Amino acid sequence: MKRIAVLGSTGSIGVNTLDVIRRSKNDFKVVALSADSSVDLLARQARAFHPAAICAGSEFLANEAKRLVGSGVKVLSGTAGLKEIVSRKDVDLVIFAISGSACLVPLVEAIKNKKSIALANKEAMVSAGPLLMALAAKNKVRILPVDSEHSAIFQCIGSRSAGLSKIYLTGSGGPLLDVDRNRFDTLPKSFILRHPKWNMGKKISVDSATMMNKGLEIIEAKYLFGIDERRIEVLIHPEAIVHSMVEMSDGAVLAQMALPDMRLPIQYALTYPGRSDAIVKRVDFAKVASLTFRKPDTDKFPCLELARDAARAGGTAPAVLCAADEEAVKCYLEGNIKFSGISETIEKVLSRHKNNRRKALSIGGILDADGWAREEVRSFCYR
Ligand code: MG
Repeated sequence: MKRIAVLGSTGSIGVNTLDVIRRSKNDFKVVALSADSSVDLLARQARAFHPAAICAGSEFLANEAKRLVGSGVKVLSGTAGLKEIVSRKDVDLVIFAISGSACLVPLVEAIKNKKSIALANKEAMVSAGPLLMALAAKNKVRILPVDSEHSAIFQCIGSRSAGLSKIYLTGSGGPLLDVDRNRFDTLPKSFILRHPKWNMGKKISVDSATMMNKGLEIIEAKYLFGIDERRIEVLIHPEAIVHSMVEMSDGAVLAQMALPDMRLPIQYALTYPGRSDAIVKRVDFAKVASLTFRKPDTDKFPCLELARDAARAGGTAPAVLCAADEEAVKCYLEGNIKFSGISETIEKVLSRHKNNRRKALSIGGILDADGWAREEVRSFCYR
């Protein structure tokens, strides 16, 4: 039986993870859960899964959770609480479903404690990829990707990049694929947040609309699989059946296909190296009928090129890109900037950034770059 901690259990990935676990109760034991602020749901999950510990975003919220869940569960709070969870002896695997850069510090702690990692958060890998991959290698820890594209690549080739010549990163194109660029700023937030294929949290939904999500995934793939970004091609694939493909040195192309349902990449990370029975519906190819692919329009979606530039630059540029995006999306959701202001803001911040390779090799240096980028965004957006 695998003993699991689910960090970010009340978000979209967290809820799906618990659904996977509930369907194979004999294989997994939930040891700990965490949420930032949704303590009602956290308490309900604790009553259903009986973890030894839970963690909320702040002491105030932890007290609220304690009141809701009653005795018999250790209630922790904040980053210190997350660090305690990932250091527990009775945890084998930690699934990181926390969104944003809050993931980085507990993730580093989990790797140092030699836990298996199922990584659904992409921001940590984008910001601190070289550091995380080196730390994982040093501690002989496997990082299992949960992001559907990276899980697809991992399902095709494992973590071996030998013989890999190219990655095709597929994306459905998001809600703005067929919308004229001139209309972007006139659309209501509800339109931007409604993804055609995947049901996700707000931040990643906006990232799908700007296509920054695919941009971040280029950087994530570069670090996870150790491949030059020039050999990663983004393809728009509106049917969302092929979750990514790899081209090998001999020209063979391997793809992973399934109906779009996050429970499959989650299940694969939990059962790896084995596989268990299907939770997701199986593909009916005759019904799908055709699979189409086209190149993305980078003029319409400038975030793709901003991310590719940051991938090429390396150093602290990806951390700055990632933090600036998170902060700019927040400003957009709060109504402080227009939709087109998201990419414009990120571009401005990147143009003012002084890249620093040495800084990118320490957590302190990365958090520094991250904090600087957020300050910059706020100074542009709240003027
Ligand atoms: Mg993805």
